[in-house]
Amino acid sequence: MFLSVFDMFKVGIGPSSSHTMGPMVAGARFLDLLRAQPFRVFGLRASLHGSLAFTGVGHATDRATILGLAGFTPADYDADRAEAALARIRETREVAPEGLPPLRFDPARDLAFDYGPALPGHANGLILRGLDPQGDVIVEETYYSIGGGFVLTAAELAGGRATDDGPPVPYPFDTAATMLRMARDSRLSIAEMKRRNELTRRDPAALDAGLRRIWEVMNACIDRGLASDGILPGGLQVKRRAMGIHRSLLAERGLNLTAPHTINDWMSAYAMAVNEENAAGGQVVTAPTNGAAGVVPATIRYWLDHVPGASPRQIPDFLLTAAAIGGLIKYNASISGAECGCQAEVGSASAMAAAGLAAVLGGTPMQVENAAEIALEHHLGMTCDPVRGLVQVPCIERNGLGAIKAVSAASLSMRGDGTHLVPLDAAIETMRQTGEDMHTKYKETSLGGLAVNVPNC
Ligand code: SF4
Repeated sequence: MFLSVFDMFKVGIGPSSSHTMGPMVAGARFLDLLRAQPFRVFGLRASLHGSLAFTGVGHATDRATILGLAGFTPADYDADRAEAALARIRETREVAPEGLPPLRFDPARDLAFDYGPALPGHANGLILRGLDPQGDVIVEETYYSIGGGFVLTAAELAGGRATDDGPPVPYPFDTAATMLRMARDSRLSIAEMKRRNELTRRDPAALDAGLRRIWEVMNACIDRGLASDGILPGGLQVKRRAMGIHRSLLAERGLNLTAPHTINDWMSAYAMAVNEENAAGGQVVTAPTNGAAGVVPATIRYWLDHVPGASPRQIPDFLLTAAAIGGLIKYNASISGAECGCQAEVGSASAMAAAGLAAVLGGTPMQVENAAEIALEHHLGMTCDPVRGLVQVPCIERNGLGAIKAVSAASLSMRGDGTHLVPLDAAIETMRQTGEDMHTKYKETSLGGLAVNVPNC
């Protein structure tokens, strides 16, 4: 299966790719289904299940579902327009998506949080229904938000891994072992193989423009986060810290006051800036999810701002390499916290960032694979237990630590020749098995871990 770099890195909105972006995408898909019907639909009803119900309010899943059914999509999301639309929908109790007549939809009555058992296909399920004039269901679809903003219908999920209908790619690696063999045989880097695969779907100019835009959005998100102060929404009273940390780092610069480990604070400030923006519902790039959106941008920014010889010209290679590793993890295990815990989110992001950094530092494919493996291995077992279901604690700080591990992993790999005991494929499979065995309360339900042990939460 081909997973594009633009599947792994998508411009979207916070706070969660699976709980915010996914339901919005599901709403858009359901509207397309309604447009294709030969009969008229008069009203809508929606129910959220499993993790979407348990942590839905904290992740703004209800808002995202309403907006999705009103025709909003993550890629062209505008916060002011969305606020106005939500107020209008609550007042008129109807949505008016393009290409359809107005549809009755009273969020207070027609949007349900179902706290029963999760739907059978995945922890993040939602059912969308179209109604006749009497309120009876005449069209219904079940969607699963499987992480990273990817959405599948129940039938697509049951049909196995989603297939890609595009032309064959020249380097169809689906394991790290195959990737390394192809790199050895072709004498190409992982980034170059990934680039050639991408060029079967779009021309070079479109690929380069897309990669440029991804970095521009990532970088703008860091800058906005570093310039923003205040309290994050959601009721936990979490204070934004990236701006203050960044200011103190700037003030210390050149004064010979700081210990060498202060470089970790720079990485944390960059990552926290992104995740504070995400928590505030701002524009981010899923990398590979919103909860883990800070790790890759922070690692790139650290490299650009602090590593001699770094050049923005190499950013495409960083992103392509990171996407190749993210694709292997998604295909063979998961990038979803609801499926495998935080090892699948921040762990995957850290592996992707480590691989990207090793690549632009001049690493061989074996060193790149080693970097990804080290980063993933040392996130194995990490649970997902966001306090109050908000993507704030532990998520914001955790992205900083994910970036720090990514840099250490890349650096360690560059001190070896790429040979190592645990193959990346073994680490990915271990992550999958560990996620399968992990108790549900540690998989984005906020029923265990920090979520139940932080006082007054
Ligand atoms: S704990 Fe990790 S997986 Fe869970 S919401 Fe936070 S970042 Fe995502």
